[in-house]
Amino acid sequence: MSIFYKALCLVFPERCPYCGEIVDSESIACADCQKKIDKYRQPIIRGTHGYRCVSSFFYGNRVRRMILRIKYRDRIQFLSQVAKIMTKDIKAVYPDDEFDYVTSVPMHKKDFEHRGYNQAQLLAIEIAKLLNTPYEETLVKVKRTKKQHKLSYKERKTNLKGSFKCIDKEQISGKNILIIDDIVTSGETLGECCKVLSRSKPRLVCCATIATAHHAVNKRAII
Ligand SMILES: [Zn+2]
Repeated sequence: MSIFYKALCLVFPERCPYCGEIVDSESIACADCQKKIDKYRQPIIRGTHGYRCVSSFFYGNRVRRMILRIKYRDRIQFLSQVAKIMTKDIKAVYPDDEFDYVTSVPMHKKDFEHRGYNQAQLLAIEIAKLLNTPYEETLVKVKRTKKQHKLSYKERKTNLKGSFKCIDKEQISGKNILIIDDIVTSGETLGECCKVLSRSKPRLVCCATIATAHHAVNKRAII
């Protein structure tokens, strides 16, 4: 840790996002809150439209708050801690898969401008560093879509159609790709991204997310 960072931590110490307690810079929560988060903690492997996806948490209340903070309150420092947890699970679940690069689910340009960053992209960049693998942009979101969780099952199916496009087919052909998103619920978003990538004939596409929603994980979905 640099002297500058240490000095910064004295002035602005890292705080537990749930109770405000001062925590060290390596933690995502204080010990008490960590215990509560740990209840949701386990790598969950599920199929999402035929592609394997590993998630590090069930989408419980505290995990939801953690993701919301990353998403909407610029608590980007949590990203690097979450990325460490995810990387551990990725290595455990895909031990034999050497990825050529890591990529992420893109946001529409307008949404990106509004928020200022794409949390899935930042997470993927951190994970790529930890895996010692390059990070590459592979997809672009060309259609602004409605939020998936606000739609009916039928609407979810069609909402994303044609919304993602490949940037460069040559870059994907024959490659092992790991794609990152924050949450997987019905799996439509990641499924659509994998489908679009697959048209360019990659060798393998695997997914990883911070969390998976409870209702989406049934016995049939877990592989
Ligand atoms: Zn706490």
